[in-house]
Amino acid sequence: MTRPSAPTKNKGPGMEQRPGFVLRERRRGLFRCGATSALHCEDIPLAKLAERYGTPLYVYSATAILERLAAFEHAFDRVPHTICYSVKANSNINILRLLAREGCGFDVVSGGELERVLVADRHAAGKIVFSGVGKSREEMTAALKAGILLFNVESESELWALAECAIRSRREARIALRVNPDVAAETHPYISTGLRKHKFGVPIRSARELYAKASAARYLKVSGVSVHIGSQITEVAPFAEAVDRVAALVRELRADGHRIDYVDTGGGLGIDYQEPAPDFSDCVARYARAVTNPLRGLKVHLLLEPGRAIVGPAGALLTSVIYRKENGGKHFLVVDAAMNDLIRPALYGAYHEIVPVVRAKNSTAKKETVDVVGPVCESGDFFARDRELPRVEEGDLLAILDTGAYGMALASNYNTRPRPAEILVRGKSAKVIRRREKARELYSPEL
Ligand SMILES: *Cc1c(COP(=O)(O)O)cnc(C)c1O
Repeated sequence: MTRPSAPTKNKGPGMEQRPGFVLRERRRGLFRCGATSALHCEDIPLAKLAERYGTPLYVYSATAILERLAAFEHAFDRVPHTICYSVKANSNINILRLLAREGCGFDVVSGGELERVLVADRHAAGKIVFSGVGKSREEMTAALKAGILLFNVESESELWALAECAIRSRREARIALRVNPDVAAETHPYISTGLRKHKFGVPIRSARELYAKASAARYLKVSGVSVHIGSQITEVAPFAEAVDRVAALVRELRADGHRIDYVDTGGGLGIDYQEPAPDFSDCVARYARAVTNPLRGLKVHLLLEPGRAIVGPAGALLTSVIYRKENGGKHFLVVDAAMNDLIRPALYGAYHEIVPVVRAKNSTAKKETVDVVGPVCESGDFFARDRELPRVEEGDLLAILDTGAYGMALASNYNTRPRPAEILVRGKSAKVIRRREKARELYSPEL
């Protein structure tokens, strides 16, 4: 496990707990006056990356990703477990490969994600779990062929479709039913999934009946129970409640004669976008207690599907201020990134910390209240509203923090905007892990 470079001079609003991104003092000329602080990703100044690769630009810290994975591993080291990183949070193949090399497994929700994992590391197939309410027969057949660890089945119809695919390809499918525990989790309604009214999972009360049917089917092997109550959940109580219900079900299923080797508790551990937690290890430890306590004595292999908690704080989106603009007393910074590059503010009203990449060290810079907006033709195209920021000028760089998860993964080509390049930094090295798209690549399928 690589250790991070020492977090030197780590200061400024909200910067303390983002070890991948640090402010470092920079002296200009012979005299100390005019000293500035420059935001770095590990050992590389972000301004240098922007200059070389252009903006908007996603930058990730490999060390931060690995540290967060290690924190998860450590928190669960007392129980048999496999971390199956949720690919949808950030599906860049190079990030998947980075995680695969540490022995990480993967949670996929489509045939496309399955392909990505196999390209990143074809030996990872045995550690893949496949989730999602609408798996097609083609996707399930591909997963069977790859020999994945577990299908998280979400309905009776899917169960029979999988049975059919399994018989056809003469491959046994290990299954868990994803149960819906009817547990409320405090999060944005779009990413809450554990209530009866949601489309996800099988109602926990009808699970036993369905397990009985599944166990009678040839080529289906009942192996576990799975649950996922939503995303960006910052309290541990709902996890404990959901796993408690799952534990009760596991006991009933075993009494019914099923062999339950795996409990998959899903993902969903949130991060604090406003004030990052002082110690991530503490957070994961609390989460681990909530998840493992109800399973005590059950002797199951635990599967975990964290996404956001692993990659979220490890990424930043760099953007340049194109124009300063004033409309009826309101100040706008029009930047070159837009909602197509990072949709979280528009979609969920999400907050992201925004900081100037270079700033006067003594914070003598005047503050001002601005809206940070993109060039897309929608009023929803904003990154911050009425945000107090140090004054920046046209051409200056801003970093939108905590954008490693559901940033690039949710990016689109709206307004025929090529998606940003992505850079993975490790110490002093920076690697382009996705080159910037060209407009022609976007419209060429139409020619
Ligand atoms: C989205 C999702 C995850 C990951 O959620 P995070 O909030 O990113 O940890 C895990 N499992 C399933 C089934 C998902 O749909």
